[in-house]
Amino acid sequence: MRGLAAHELLEILDQGEDLSPAGRAALLLTVACSDYSRERVKSLSIGERDALLAQIRARTFGGAVESVVTCPACRELVEVSLDVRSIFPDRTQAAPSEETAREPLLIASGDFVVQAAVPAVRDVETIVITDDPAEGLRRLLRRCILRAEHRGEPCEADDLPEDVCALIDSRIAEADPHGDVQLAIQCSGCEHHWAEVFDILSFFWNEMQTAARRLLREVHVLASAYGWTESEILTLSARRRRIYLEMVGG
Ligand SMILES: [Zn+2]
Repeated sequence: MRGLAAHELLEILDQGEDLSPAGRAALLLTVACSDYSRERVKSLSIGERDALLAQIRARTFGGAVESVVTCPACRELVEVSLDVRSIFPDRTQAAPSEETAREPLLIASGDFVVQAAVPAVRDVETIVITDDPAEGLRRLLRRCILRAEHRGEPCEADDLPEDVCALIDSRIAEADPHGDVQLAIQCSGCEHHWAEVFDILSFFWNEMQTAARRLLREVHVLASAYGWTESEILTLSARRRRIYLEMVGG
């Protein structure tokens, strides 16, 4: 596993533009974790996948994250500083072929008994994206429920009441804690506490888009000044590009 080179970053953004979030994550892992087979990537839990994405991000842009979130109580802007390597476990020491054994979850609630698998990359890749979180959970559960019973009789995922679905969702989050990272934030203005979701994939993707705009501007300036091709300029180290840019006043 390694960080992304400048030309790879641009290629991933081109190829990933029309992909779903799951597709973008798979694309990033394919390029940066070439020691992981496609099948192995599909078997990762979402937390394991996101831990790898965090390492790729750290090796591309460094581990530090400086961000700003809005306090839901007083609308004050609150600065957030963290290191992605302290949030996600370091999976780089684990052999790519080494699979974590994940026991199915057994959930009993009222008259319902459910056995569910912890969702893997192949499950989220398969389900169709929806903006409705309740429907999104239903679609995921249709994939991940291995067995469901109501008063001892088999039933379908769609027959489960919402509170049982929510309970399964929270048990999945416990079993795969890095699949849904929430940061505990406190507002410095009004002392309000809340949990802010930290989605490493969308965060990293947005950063890549910003980096790409900067890279293309650099290519434009250097190509105009020296007549070099895009690929020649992208092969230069960031340090050398910066020095040439200073020379041409770009
Ligand atoms: Zn506040």
